[in-house]
Amino acid sequence: MAGLSCGIALAEAGWRVRLYEKRPHLGGRAASYTLPDGTEIDNCQHVTLGCCTNLDDFYGRVGAREKIRFFDYLAFADASGRISRMRAAALPAPLHLALAFVRLGGLRAGEKWAIARALNEILRSGGRPSDARGITMLEWLERRRQPAGAIANFWRLVLVSALDEELDRAEAQYGIDVFWKSFLVNRAGFRMGVPAAPLGELYEGCRKALERRGGEIRTRARVARFRIEQERVGALAFEDGNEEIADAYVAAVPHGALLEMLPAELVEREPVFGNLRRLQASPITGVHLWYDRTVTEEPFLALMGLESQWIFNKTALLNPAPAPPNESAKQYLQVVISASYDLVSESRQEIIERARKEMELVLPAAREAQVVKATVVKETAATFSPAPGVDQWRPESQSPIGQLFLAGDWTRTGWPATMEGAVRSGYLAAQAVLNLAGQHRTFLQPDLPAEGFVHLWS
Ligand SMILES: Cc1cc2nc3c(=O)[nH]c(=O)nc-3n(C[C@H](O)[C@H](O)[C@H](O)COP(=O)(O)OP(=O)(O)OC[C@H]3O[C@@H](n4cnc5c(N)ncnc54)[C@H](O)[C@@H]3O)c2cc1C
Repeated sequence: MAGLSCGIALAEAGWRVRLYEKRPHLGGRAASYTLPDGTEIDNCQHVTLGCCTNLDDFYGRVGAREKIRFFDYLAFADASGRISRMRAAALPAPLHLALAFVRLGGLRAGEKWAIARALNEILRSGGRPSDARGITMLEWLERRRQPAGAIANFWRLVLVSALDEELDRAEAQYGIDVFWKSFLVNRAGFRMGVPAAPLGELYEGCRKALERRGGEIRTRARVARFRIEQERVGALAFEDGNEEIADAYVAAVPHGALLEMLPAELVEREPVFGNLRRLQASPITGVHLWYDRTVTEEPFLALMGLESQWIFNKTALLNPAPAPPNESAKQYLQVVISASYDLVSESRQEIIERARKEMELVLPAAREAQVVKATVVKETAATFSPAPGVDQWRPESQSPIGQLFLAGDWTRTGWPATMEGAVRSGYLAAQAVLNLAGQHRTFLQPDLPAEGFVHLWS
């Protein structure tokens, strides 16, 4: 998405863009593909939020905005299957969710009071508490004496999936940003957007947008390396010996792939590149389950106190509903487990079994139902880990090498590894390319504005 958003922005500014993608399909870590038996799946459910203003702008530019379905509530289920919903009241932020929070199930009154105190502190500091950098979210919460139930059933519930990291490994500022941007600053921030089409369909407009300006997308085209001459890029080189020469080069690959494309001596000498080795990866596991009957009517559920964090009802969410993989399949659920370190070495069968048992806890109808097909997608390097201090290793778009620009969710966007972060990085790289050519254009979209009450509070 970093490469696509950068390419679209540069094409709009009149540049001829050629985009090389090593896979047969677009979308990178947010992609859909077809299994050997013909079933089409997303590598994992991807969601956006109202606060993801750049992602929304990108979808708008490529004609995909109407394929995102937004929900005005969040639905939570506890381990006994009790479901509660958080819906905004007709009040400006930060009061819009206050009533829903008071009514939310799964938390004791004392836990809610402690959470409210911590949220109030985030508000009063304008989202920037003085001690949130360089410590973990768990340390920050412990300093605020958050009870164990509040941590497990509220803070962890929201943050592990938003950051793809455990609270004792993620920097506090990253966690606080999630609450500030999505729940506190503007009433639209928390609205959850779920694609109503396979992810691959969201990128259909990209090819045309580049071609209109004389550019093109080449898939199954793996770039081998950058040929560097006198601190500038001389050319892009391919395995077959072919080369491509351009006015500017944007590397929008994962940081590990970038290091392989650069001369080893340059990586050793240049800290901007060498420090990328300090970024750690964290995993996400997606479990895809097809049942022989309908086991839930809910489009999605966030799960409290379980290993599985989200259930997405793909049969209800996709429009049209996806073709069933076989005659007995009636409902397709996708279960998401972020920061799934414990599952990396587990067998696929074991992972399916664990997810199936949790579905039976939360969805009573699943107890009688048969799983007629299941598959697991383990992404061991799903995102970079937002560890304390990680921002110092994240580079700006302009690299120390002439004409070489960097894009990717791992660059210095201020956001964790998300589609929003990837699109921001793409827009920032496009702006940097244009700046160097003496063209000045802004693609980066502003955040949602703080509503009046938020100013009063802070
Ligand atoms: C399982 C999972 C679930 C997620 N859920 C969410 C979610 O719900 N919401 C959200 O906002 N984010 C989510 N994310 C994060 C999001 O997918 C990423 O942050 C985002 O897609 C990263 O985009 P990118 O362009 O920076 O990198 P990538 O998507 O990794 O793109 C890099 C591209 O470079 C290509 N490439 C690599 N090497 C070469 C080469 N040598 N030559 C040519 N091409 C090459 C790759 O094939 C790839 O297409 C999730 C990620 C995963 C893995």
